[in-house]
Amino acid sequence: MVCFCFLVDQRRKVRRSKPVAGSCSRCGRGASVVDIITQTRFCYVPFYCKSWKAIMCTFCGAILKSYA
Ligand SMILES: [Zn+2]
Repeated sequence: MVCFCFLVDQRRKVRRSKPVAGSCSRCGRGASVVDIITQTRFCYVPFYCKSWKAIMCTFCGAILKSYA
């Protein structure tokens, strides 16, 4: 069986970010509320796109909290 997993990748793009009270549990820097777009691509062609909100550290990229 041939595996095509390597043809699928996922891109995460931060559309908007706004500083919020609180700090990152990993690096201790400020956290932000962000609008994220997750794009799943097959052979570099996007076929699935999802946008979601999360509290994220913009310095180290850790997701501190996500909203479904
Ligand atoms: Zn951090």
